[in-house]
Amino acid sequence: MFSKILIANRGEIALRILRACRELGIKTVAVHSTADEDAMHVRLADEAVCIGPPASRDSYLNVAAILSAATITGAEAIHPGYGFLSENADFAETVEAHGLTFIGPTAEHIRMMGDKITAKTTMQMLGVPLVPGSDGELTSLEEAREVADKVGYPVLIKAAAGGGGRGMKVAQTAGDLEDAWKMARAEARAAFGNDAVYLEKYMDRPRHIELQILGDNYGNVVHFGERDCSLQRRHQKLLEEAGSPALTAEQRDAIGQTATQALSKMGYRNAGTLEFLYQDGQFCFIEMNTRLQVEHPVTEMVCDVDLVREQIRLAAGEQLGYTQKDISFSGHAIECRINAEDPDSFTPCPGTVAVYHPPGGLGVRVDSALYTGYRVPPFYDSMIAKLIVHAPTREQAIARMQRALDEFVVEGIKTVIPLHRRILEDPEFQKGEYTIHWLEQFTAKPH
Ligand code: ADP
Repeated sequence: MFSKILIANRGEIALRILRACRELGIKTVAVHSTADEDAMHVRLADEAVCIGPPASRDSYLNVAAILSAATITGAEAIHPGYGFLSENADFAETVEAHGLTFIGPTAEHIRMMGDKITAKTTMQMLGVPLVPGSDGELTSLEEAREVADKVGYPVLIKAAAGGGGRGMKVAQTAGDLEDAWKMARAEARAAFGNDAVYLEKYMDRPRHIELQILGDNYGNVVHFGERDCSLQRRHQKLLEEAGSPALTAEQRDAIGQTATQALSKMGYRNAGTLEFLYQDGQFCFIEMNTRLQVEHPVTEMVCDVDLVREQIRLAAGEQLGYTQKDISFSGHAIECRINAEDPDSFTPCPGTVAVYHPPGGLGVRVDSALYTGYRVPPFYDSMIAKLIVHAPTREQAIARMQRALDEFVVEGIKTVIPLHRRILEDPEFQKGEYTIHWLEQFTAKPH
């Protein structure tokens, strides 16, 4: 086992990783920008190294500074968290080239899944069903027209290098296709320096359902069931549940088996998530994330597993030590992402937290790096906390989440807590009847 790990991230996830390390008896090194000198993960870590000015590209994305910090402190492994360098294959490779362990999959698998076209063709070869669309990259607008005519409008033009919903454009009819094609490519070129695009049928009422996977270095792969992440605004998830209100245990087992077989054939190691659109009883793979996800806690609650601990153990070369039949699912979990944003306009709202009082009680978990007097810096993601509840049934989990949201006090800055309250009260949400389009419509309605 490692004796010291460097955490190449900030905010709640840095703290989450730190907590897992503490429980494993592993020393921690925090790295931080000058804007994060007072951050909780910096205060709690055994050692802290300042790696640059506030802008992410100069600090949390500064590979040379992070590697220097690891060398100076004698860290043996680096946990990248999510975002920042977590899906950067060059970073993973550089870390390993310096004789350190990257806590995640191989650079080869990160690269493969980072290109969504390669990801889709790989998964197809391994027997995973896809969204109908182009066979790989589109070489011309004419080819896009042919494929669109075949699969039927509306269609989506998506960037091979896409992420965070960027480089993705819908064409409702044949008349929109040229614009969608041009705009998706221009956006992809500007955002990722790569204008390769592909085409998918635009599904009109799917749910976003993803599967949590873990693999060891010896070909053993298991899944920890699904998360329903359909509640999204601008392709950003806001509320997640485990399990999905739309799936039966048999459907979960079936897709789980397909996914674990595929990843075992690939020799995939460490944590990963396969994302699917699910409609009319069909799963269609859209992409794979080769890292820990923001919403991993809902899985932890229903499976009684510490996924970060597992990541660290597996990266240290330990075997999984259990098989699929040892994994069971108990109760229901919901996560609300608490963003420092105006709950109506979604304008980011950084500033000083005048009062912070998190909820508590049975089945309530808060993953956050906030404290009273903390200044939320304007330079990073607006998510400041995750409120997670676990209860025997979905109905009880909803009641518990409502109770916890009512207890949650964050003063001095605006948050989306009022929006979560409204969602939890909604009869359609309560019945579990929602698709990926539901939240956009809900937030557009006057209230
Ligand atoms: P990104 O990596 O940018 O997040 P994804 O491929 O994961 O892109 O898609 C993000 C979201 O966009 C999905 O969760 C879903 O809501 C929507 N989406 C993606 N592909 C389709 C599709 N073919 N039809 C309808 N919605 C889609």
